[in-house]
Amino acid sequence: MTATAATVTTVDLGLYPELQRYGATDVSACFSCGTCTASCPLSQTDSTFPRRIIRYAQVGMKDALLTSKELWSCYQCGECAETCPTQADPSEFMAAARRYAIASYDRTRIARTMYTRPLLGTAFAVLVAMFFALFMYSAHGPQSGESLAIFAFIPEELIHNTGVAVMILVTLAGLSGVASMARGMARREGVGWRSLFGSRPALARSARAAWFAIARESLAQERFRTECEADAAPVAWYRRRWLLHAMTVWGFLGLFGATLLDYGFALVGLKATGTPVPLWYPIRLLGTVSGVLLVYGVTSLIVQRYQAANRSVKRSTTADWMLLGLLWVTGVTGFVLELALYLPSAPACGYWVFLVHVAVAMELMLLAPFMKLAHAIYRPVALFFVALAQSSAEGDA
Ligand code: SF4
Ligand code: SF4
Repeated sequence: MTATAATVTTVDLGLYPELQRYGATDVSACFSCGTCTASCPLSQTDSTFPRRIIRYAQVGMKDALLTSKELWSCYQCGECAETCPTQADPSEFMAAARRYAIASYDRTRIARTMYTRPLLGTAFAVLVAMFFALFMYSAHGPQSGESLAIFAFIPEELIHNTGVAVMILVTLAGLSGVASMARGMARREGVGWRSLFGSRPALARSARAAWFAIARESLAQERFRTECEADAAPVAWYRRRWLLHAMTVWGFLGLFGATLLDYGFALVGLKATGTPVPLWYPIRLLGTVSGVLLVYGVTSLIVQRYQAANRSVKRSTTADWMLLGLLWVTGVTGFVLELALYLPSAPACGYWVFLVHVAVAMELMLLAPFMKLAHAIYRPVALFFVALAQSSAEGDA
């Protein structure tokens, strides 16, 4: 333990072996040459990115690694992996460190199990899906053969109430992890309530940082699109990595929004859930367009990963496949269901597709804070601190 008047740095010699359990590459030979920094498209304002994260692992600076906003600045483009003279693969190392961070913020240890024990994690995921399916099926009603009466088969109240319970659990787990991460980063960056909200300039700076993190980086994928892909091998526009990722994000958010709107309309008595509507009905249209985006994006990402088609997907973990698999099953079963709803007579399999769709969608939501999907909440928080630091540096300059 090293102590100074201002800070105490705890050295954890088990950090690097622990990171290796999360898939960290062998970075023992990294000698901080800086080649990765020179090749990284996002390192313009930071002469130690990304090698500083590797250094933390080498010397056991666990707290520094877990409170590092830079860890989440990397979009895993793989450029640095190609130029590293020691084959340390900083790109994959950073991905493993993010998995480790997600597991460290999670107090239930579910994320740790999912990442470090793939067989047990997969069995757990299967059991969760089976639990939801059996739970829903335990309240099942008749299967009408004339048209697909899905809410006569599984009562909509049961689905809604289970969905609300799942959302409460997910929100609590997500907030707990985000609070833990934000507390650590705020302490490290010297950010407090007053510097965030204490004056009009502070408020304006915080609002700009939030805009950067949420709108420009997370939703519009600005640097991912313009900088990370700038040096990538040329591919057709419909196969570009940022576009497939954006389609997946927007498709997922659109479907989530359509589900919430459908629920909200039923709550205020505008439209009962399950009422037949034409394809152009706004919520149905939103769901259909979002479903197309999601299925196309996820299917393409699966194919690229399977083919190891580019430098960013050279390695895949069980966690990568699990997230893509759950998204794909949710999207495809949703489409099959929609098709079946418009058929004049209901195919019997439509009811089972519905059951699988509901069970997997519930599972996807419930496990979100413990899987790779958790980066959707952690990355914007870290990027908020990145933007704050950048605006302070510009102000100081
Ligand atoms: S990861 Fe590779 S390129 Fe980066 S500093 Fe270490 S040895 Fe150099
Ligand atoms: S993977 Fe890409 S964004 Fe991440 S550190 Fe390497 S070069 Fe930079």
